[in-house]
Amino acid sequence: MPETIDHQTLCRPEVRTLPRYNAGLSEEAVKRKFGVSRISKLGSNENPYGPSPEVLRQWPALAHRLFRYPDAGATRLREGIARFNDIAPDQVVIGNGSEQIIRMIAEGFLSPGDRVVTVRPAFGLHEIHPLLMGAVVDAVPVTAGAEFDVDGLCRALSRPTKVLIFSNPSNPVGCMMKADALRRVIAACPPRTLIVVDEAYREYAETDGDYPDARAILREQGRAWLCLRTFSKAYGLAALRIGYALASSAQVASVLETVRDTFNTTMPAQEMATVALTDPDHMRQCVARTVASRARVAAALRAMGLFVAPTHTNFVFFRTPRDAMEVAGDLLRHGVIVKPWKEKGFENWIRVSIGLPEDNERFLKHLAEVLG
Ligand SMILES: *Cc1c(COP(=O)(O)O)cnc(C)c1O
Repeated sequence: MPETIDHQTLCRPEVRTLPRYNAGLSEEAVKRKFGVSRISKLGSNENPYGPSPEVLRQWPALAHRLFRYPDAGATRLREGIARFNDIAPDQVVIGNGSEQIIRMIAEGFLSPGDRVVTVRPAFGLHEIHPLLMGAVVDAVPVTAGAEFDVDGLCRALSRPTKVLIFSNPSNPVGCMMKADALRRVIAACPPRTLIVVDEAYREYAETDGDYPDARAILREQGRAWLCLRTFSKAYGLAALRIGYALASSAQVASVLETVRDTFNTTMPAQEMATVALTDPDHMRQCVARTVASRARVAAALRAMGLFVAPTHTNFVFFRTPRDAMEVAGDLLRHGVIVKPWKEKGFENWIRVSIGLPEDNERFLKHLAEVLG
């Protein structure tokens, strides 16, 4: 008889304790579980208006090319992104969603014991991928007013730091770090720190006028940096899984290229992202509508007496009087999907995406009922 072993013990110790990323429920799963037909999907920060009409027009023509491998170098998209961002193509890295780039950063730059500084609450993968590589993550909580704690970050950065990673504006909080604060945080980094600014929501923040040009500030200070962007949010292409990084140098980009899976993005994703970039007007119209609805949702939540974090994104983060999981569960029964936060200290917080106006109204109506 072979001895019985616990198969869990076969995995790397880093994996055994790794938290699972909370991707939330799909529309289909909620329909089945609660027998509701109408779903308001407000848990994943998608653009409810969808991609550029030009994407929809060109989509069918891709079908006859499905038997070919995609371009492993994503040449045309990389060139389009380089032109769009006024940077050299060899400083652009394409990922299967920017979440894959976060993984590539961890694999390319982090060894066991390396220290990573981020914020709390954080985008889960900013912690999960470093932990997977055996790095130590130090998360600096936001202030009581739900803003970045700039002093706290500077103090955390006074110790050796391999990577600083955070999203600006923040997911899930929504707050934005302006130029002066960003300049201080970057100046506080040790010289060999790789600075990663995840700009998944930059298109929404840009409507505020004081969204900082992180690249310019990082260049001023001669740092090694990566700025992450995605087509999943304002460009409305979440299903295609495509995002990118802009790098301070071809050397930094080449580290990511070395660990990148060969055919990491599909031909349809490369092609449709290239098309989406040619129609920034559509993206801006979607952003403008979302920003208008956001003001209405935030005001309605405040009118219910709830604390709402400042937001520069396509979602609102707010505190509920009781456990967020319970409230989110009650909303699910009405077909409304939101994201209850699970991080320690934020168990009463919910993140709700701004959807179509009718979905926002359904959310507000059912939340009022659920909170009594
Ligand atoms: C949504 C999101 C991403 C991931 O987007 P992809 O779909 O993987 O491109 C990355 N970072 C933050 C902060 C996000 O909110």
